[in-house]
Amino acid sequence: MSDFIIIGGGISGLLIARELASHGAAITILEQNRIGQEASWAGGGILSPLYPWRQPLPINALCHWSQQQYPLLSQQLQQNTNIDPEWTRCGMLWLSLPDLDDALSWCRNTSTNATIFSGEAVEEVQKGLGDGLSGTHLWLPDIAQIRNPRLLKALKRDLRQRQVKLIEQSQVTEWVITGNQATDVKTTQQTFSADNFIVTAGAWSSRVLSNDNLWQPVIHPVKGQMLLFKSEPGLLQTMVQCGEHYLIPRRDGRILAGSTVEESGFDKRPTTSGYRQLYQFAIRTLPALKDCPVELHWAGIRPGSPDGIPYIGAHPQINNVFFNCGHFRNGVVMGPAAARLLADIILQRPSFTNPEPFLPSNR
Ligand SMILES: Cc1cc2nc3c(=O)[nH]c(=O)nc-3n(C[C@H](O)[C@H](O)[C@H](O)COP(=O)(O)OP(=O)(O)OC[C@H]3O[C@@H](n4cnc5c(N)ncnc54)[C@H](O)[C@@H]3O)c2cc1C
Repeated sequence: MSDFIIIGGGISGLLIARELASHGAAITILEQNRIGQEASWAGGGILSPLYPWRQPLPINALCHWSQQQYPLLSQQLQQNTNIDPEWTRCGMLWLSLPDLDDALSWCRNTSTNATIFSGEAVEEVQKGLGDGLSGTHLWLPDIAQIRNPRLLKALKRDLRQRQVKLIEQSQVTEWVITGNQATDVKTTQQTFSADNFIVTAGAWSSRVLSNDNLWQPVIHPVKGQMLLFKSEPGLLQTMVQCGEHYLIPRRDGRILAGSTVEESGFDKRPTTSGYRQLYQFAIRTLPALKDCPVELHWAGIRPGSPDGIPYIGAHPQINNVFFNCGHFRNGVVMGPAAARLLADIILQRPSFTNPEPFLPSNR
């Protein structure tokens, strides 16, 4: 018997487990495959929305809070687990930005450091960029990234040290609900009982609670493909965004090119057309990449939700079932804030932001 059963072992589940475990709660995480192998592993780890000034306010409220917390979280995890999640403030450069005025007024309103470059003057930040350097470019030097596979590994080890039970290969298939209380979940392994349940099942979240006549979050799967180039440190100094795509430099010199946005259900096989799209973008943006081998090509399934705003809070009909899901393209950057907000709701504490836009009962 646990105080909380958390269904889904991605970043959303691991971070809410950490929040609640730090208040002494007994936690079990049920994961249908292996912990931290789905969207949270597949993503780029950019600790900002791709175009923050185009985002709804509630998303930016969560991102802003998380951005303040990530350096400390990364440091604590490294100390506790000896795994460095590689939080790195490398900045983000937007090439030929069409909505520069909106971006600059957002930077002013949020006191975000920004530098504007015209044409090839951008070489001051990043050398060796390819064609299409005409226009105006924006650099935000304080935007950071994290190496998400390492973050997940560190969180997993940290939770074990906090006595959180991690049960893998255990898919929740059925609920036992009496009146407005859930008592048990049945899984492919066995039945588990708890006082409270939290659904953090990413793109699968609207399938988890499939009992008839019950409210469910509106979540749909959105596939994203990524390419990983093997190169040497120094080739790329900053993250670069151009149109729908981006490049991310890792500390060991590897460079990620992302990502596609595709509606193809839960099929997460990478495709030749996805490869071509990302490869062409990468060598157009940084021509030296044509001499670097592609090491890996993969896809993940994002949890799409209306306006990309996650569901955080209690089920409207079942008192002891909560949600933290539907973070779409920003689940890593919103992760710490979303977990803190849900912990505040559960523990009935005031929070750092207004919970109303996220509450399932308001959606
Ligand atoms: C290509 C790509 C690039 C991205 N880049 C970024 C980025 O740079 N920055 C950023 O902030 N975000 C990014 N994202 C988005 C981010 O990765 C997601 O929003 C986030 O990982 C969602 O986390 P999650 O824990 O909710 O879901 P997931 O990581 O998908 O975890 C959900 C877990 O629930 C489990 N599960 C599902 N159903 C059940 C069940 N019935 N029983 C038990 N377990 C179950 C799944 O197996 C899975 O492990 C990207 C995503 C992709 C795909």
